[in-house]
Amino acid sequence: MAERIPETVYKKLSERLHFYEDLGVRLFYRDRGAPHALSMATPAAEFFEAPIGQPISSEEVALPKSTRNPGLPKATPPAPRALPTRVAETAPRAGYQPEPLPIPAAPSLFEEFDKVPDDTLLKIRSDLGECTRCKLHTTRNKIVFGDGNPKAELVFVGEGPGHDEDMQGLPFVGRAGKLLTQMIEAMGLQRNDVYICNVVKCRPPENRAPEKDEVEQCSPFLLRQIDAIAPKVIVCLGSVAAQTVLETNRGISQFRGQWLEFRGRKLMATYHPAYLLRNPSAKSEVWKDLQKVMAVLGLEVKKGKSAEAGKSS
Ligand code: URA
Repeated sequence: MAERIPETVYKKLSERLHFYEDLGVRLFYRDRGAPHALSMATPAAEFFEAPIGQPISSEEVALPKSTRNPGLPKATPPAPRALPTRVAETAPRAGYQPEPLPIPAAPSLFEEFDKVPDDTLLKIRSDLGECTRCKLHTTRNKIVFGDGNPKAELVFVGEGPGHDEDMQGLPFVGRAGKLLTQMIEAMGLQRNDVYICNVVKCRPPENRAPEKDEVEQCSPFLLRQIDAIAPKVIVCLGSVAAQTVLETNRGISQFRGQWLEFRGRKLMATYHPAYLLRNPSAKSEVWKDLQKVMAVLGLEVKKGKSAEAGKSS
């Protein structure tokens, strides 16, 4: 007679498998022979379940001319301007050629900001203090400053903390965060090789998009973090982060995957991991974007099983 799994264990296992399925990591539990299926060794194509196709050239991709010069902060606060509204992260039409991002109508939020000499993440955290600069402080549990390698070559910028991040004081630790960790590992990196932070450091209630005044108060700290880390590449996750940093109302699908420039650094926008949880088919687009980032960082694009499978068919 077949042995019955105790109900509690069965329930736990079933929840776990649904969780992986949710993340699109089905092969993880199909291939029980692979002991570290979610580790760095995971072929990225397997994780993303998308054909890798031709690896992107490791040649540096020429930066398009900056759409503006989002310079550095001055003491006087910038004039208020309309911030981007949340735009659905829909896929672009086939063959669509994005135009350059428009120059913002109002003065840049970032134009006035000067580099703080000898700035460090510790100093920035200390200046942020127990922040009460905007209304988000009234509903937050913990400030989510950022986490990772202070000398990272790669910085991921998200929108703002969610419930799990607010509870733990760490960025991207919920379901979307677990997917981000897998994306990082698929690139051949670990979470502590990169730096992860958000446009706003406190959770917007009901996970709404951060509002103009909140971004205005918080963005100087993000800019200081970027300047202090001095990464080679910044990846904006999702439309809110990308539209805020780039100061555009354009839908992210129009400029995602393109090299842009931000404060003299290479910037790429890609879809938010939370969007990928809802739309797993967009993972192939994100993987293409991450391969471009890997090329610039000199990371090897590993051949995945999908690519192998593609060869034999
Ligand atoms: N989504 C974000 O944009 N940031 C987080 O830290 C978590 C989820």
